[in-house]
Order: sequence, then C-alpha cells, then structure tokens
Amino acid sequence: MLYDNYARERRRFEPLVAGAVGLYTCGPTVYDYQHIGNFRTFLFEDLLKRVLEWNGYVVRHVMNITDVGHLTSDADTGEDKMEKGARRTGKTAWEIAQLYTESFIDDMARLNIETPSVLCRATDHIPEQIAFITDIEKNGFTYRTTDGIYFNTSLQPDYGFLARLDKAGLEAGKRVELGEKKSITDFALWKFSAPGEQRQMEWESPWGTGFPGWHVECSAMAQKYLGDFFDIHCGGEDHIPVHHTNEIAQTEARVGTRLANFWMHAYFLLSNDAKMAKSAGEFLRLQSLIDRGYDPLAYRYLCLTAHYRTQLNFTWDALDAAAKGLDRLRGGVFALGEAGANFGANFGDPDAGYRERFTAEINDDLNLPRALALAWEVLRGFLAAGTKKATLLEFDRIFGLGLGAWAPKTESIPEPIAALAAARAAARQSRQWAEADRLRAEIQAAGWDMEDRADGYALKRITVSSK
Ligand code: AMP
Ligand code: ZN
Repeated sequence: MLYDNYARERRRFEPLVAGAVGLYTCGPTVYDYQHIGNFRTFLFEDLLKRVLEWNGYVVRHVMNITDVGHLTSDADTGEDKMEKGARRTGKTAWEIAQLYTESFIDDMARLNIETPSVLCRATDHIPEQIAFITDIEKNGFTYRTTDGIYFNTSLQPDYGFLARLDKAGLEAGKRVELGEKKSITDFALWKFSAPGEQRQMEWESPWGTGFPGWHVECSAMAQKYLGDFFDIHCGGEDHIPVHHTNEIAQTEARVGTRLANFWMHAYFLLSNDAKMAKSAGEFLRLQSLIDRGYDPLAYRYLCLTAHYRTQLNFTWDALDAAAKGLDRLRGGVFALGEAGANFGANFGDPDAGYRERFTAEINDDLNLPRALALAWEVLRGFLAAGTKKATLLEFDRIFGLGLGAWAPKTESIPEPIAALAAARAAARQSRQWAEADRLRAEIQAAGWDMEDRADGYALKRITVSSK
C-alpha cells in the first residue's frame, strides 16, 4: 500500500507494466548547496526505490537537475534563481550549475542514496521542452503576454485537483498580482529574455529568445524517459500546490494523462518549527553536520525514525540520539561475528518470520520507524547469531546504513605501550604482583588501560568523557 496524494488515500500498488516501475523524482535546483531538508526528500525517494526493488520490481529512476528557469517567485514574476546565484558568487550560471551539481552528487553518495538510472539536466533538454510547448499551443492551451507564453488554466475544469485547490478563493484573494495573466493560477511555459538584456542562459524558440518555465522541464523529461503515463512521481510537499499541479495540467493538455499513476510527497524537515529553506538564507548542509563530527549516515538513521508523511523538526539532540542509535546498531551487528571464521562462507539464511514482518512494515506505506524497531527486536532477541546477522544485513538492503561493511576503528598501539604490556604480562605469569601493578600504573599514566583476559589481555585507550 502506498499513499497517493492524487487520490488522497492509500492504494494498493501495482505497476502499469508487470515487473517494472517507472519512477520520476524532482531533483535539486543547483543555484546553491542542497540543505539537509532537501535530502530528507531524496532519502524518502531512495527508500521508496529500495522498497520497490525489495518487492522484485526493476525500477527505472529518473531525476532531473534544475539548472534553468526556477524563478524566485512561484507567481512567475521573480528572477531566475540561477542568474541570481551567479551574481551572488561572482561565477557564471553555468559554473555554479556544475559546482552545485557535483556537490549534490557527492552528498548523495555520502548518504548511501543510490544513483538514479537517469540524471538529466534541464539545459540538455531544451528542444524537448520546446516541442512540449508547441504541442500544448497546437491544442489551444497557451496565450502570449509581453514577457512570455503562458498556460491557460481556466480551460481545465479539473485544474488543481491534486492540491484540491480552491480556485475561486485564490482568484478573489490575489487580484493585484495578476499582471497580464488571465488567471492567478496561469503559469509561464516560456519566458522571454528582457528587451536589451542578455541572459547567461537563453535559447532561440518559435516564440522568441528566452528560457523555459520550470514546470515544463520535468514533464518533458519524464515523458521522454518514462512515457506519457508512468507509475510514480515524487517530490517534497511544497510541490503539491504549484509545481506538480502544473505538471499535471500541462501533461493533460499535451497527451491527456495525469502523467503518473501515484503522486507521492515527503513532508518537510523543519528547523525551529519552520521550513528549512535555501531562500531563507540560513540552512544546514550535510557538510555542516560532518564539520561537527557527525557521520552522514547518522542523518540517514534520523530520517528512518520518522514516517515520511509527517514533518520532522531537526534538533541537535535528535541527531545525537540518531548517532547513538546508529553506533549501537553497528556495534551490535559487528559483535555478532564475521563470515569466515565464525560462520563459514556466510551467516545462513535470514529468519523467515522476521523477514515477513519486515516486508509487511515497509509495504505499509514505507513504515520505516516500525521496520527499524523490528531490527532492534531481532538484535536483542534469541535467534542464533548467524541468523540474526543474516536477517539484519537483509534489512539493511532497505535501511542503507552500510551495516555489513562497518567495523570498529582499531587504534594501533604504540610500540612502548606494547612493550610495557608484554612486560606486565610476563610479570603476572611469574607472579611478581608488585611489578605487575607498577607496570599497569605506568601504562595508565601513558593513557592506556590494560584489561586482563583469560586468553591474554587487551589494550584500550582511556577516553576522557566530554560530559
Ligand atoms: P529544490 O532544490 O528547491 O528544487 O528542492 C529539491 C527537493 O527538496 C524538492 O523535492 C523539494 O520539495 C524538497 N524540499 C525543499 N525543502 C525541503 C524541506 N525543508 N524538507 C524536505 N524537503 C524539502
Ligand atoms: Zn519537478
């Protein structure tokens, strides 16, 4: 079952073509770094893809890079975010697109987000967008103003269904901002470069030099790579009332479909109970967490603890708790032993009962918090160590926490400490207790602790607690 925002209900998911799923997720606008709020949405999409794969589907995942046309205002009056970003940084729009795209790809990898099958730039698909607008124009859904070609939403009685928009209320409330638009919900398909201004990013078109509106790129690329009607389209909750509403409108005008069978949205990451936003100036990057000593996967763990359809308020305490949870889970899984010495070539099979319960949780509209709780139940339960480990590594195909690859960092023991420890072990062997105690004190003074064990000893660095 997946929650479809178009139907506003949980629906049983069946792919349109047996065995294969087409998934389109709106990607980053690369005028700045992505913040961890953006990554909450990308993490949700990664989890969705993994859950679909868990169920045996082959997923074709398409994600766009918005590198032109996303304006600072949803009313199509603002400036292009790319040109604004270029001014802010003193680089060209093309340079910042490259810089922030690379940084986005690095952060995706640091969060164990799988690379999409297709990662496509809007600026590489200008002809497709022009063809898209040309078709809509032929079908009679466009009109021209002095600054661009607009989509006429009043020709669609169903316009705004995804968001359950109250069109009459919107019209009455915002009459002043209308400008040359016929209706407040109309949106730009193609914007003209301002007379006398040379934009860094502009193209020739049948309507004049300019650039595509932001909404066109996603529908044009989705149709190119996934067809006119595919399985699932995703984004953050802010996409419901404008971007995805307009994608559906223009696709209906072009080919008569609502583009995707399921429309799914991740709810916001908040910071101090307000939306974390790039445009608001202050925001946390993944690098900001790393700079404070956090493992990026602690953020992934944090996102697993909240359902994607609830907003999540970011606090450092919550991240601390997630980092601890991740550490304990890693440590617990590691302590179960390694394949090879303890378990032969592998650990055996995952426990069938737990696997079934886990599948039920993740197929219940991605209930990752409960799936995670199940992992803890397995770790603390009474299964054989090998079965526990196999079960948890199986679960990690969804969690993506890299549990199988993790091992505690072993610190190399300095030569003088090793020599003192060997001397103390020898003293104990020959029952010279005073000498053994003296050597232990010397080892401790150097910052190490020597633990005697039945089969020898272990050395650990004495950690000074920060609390
Ligand atoms: P953008 O780079 O602004 O185009 O956004 C990239 C993705 O992040 C979109 O799917 C947005 O809906 C999503 N997004 C933006 N802000 C947040 C937030 N605070 N929490 C979760 N997702 C967000
Ligand atoms: Zn989009």
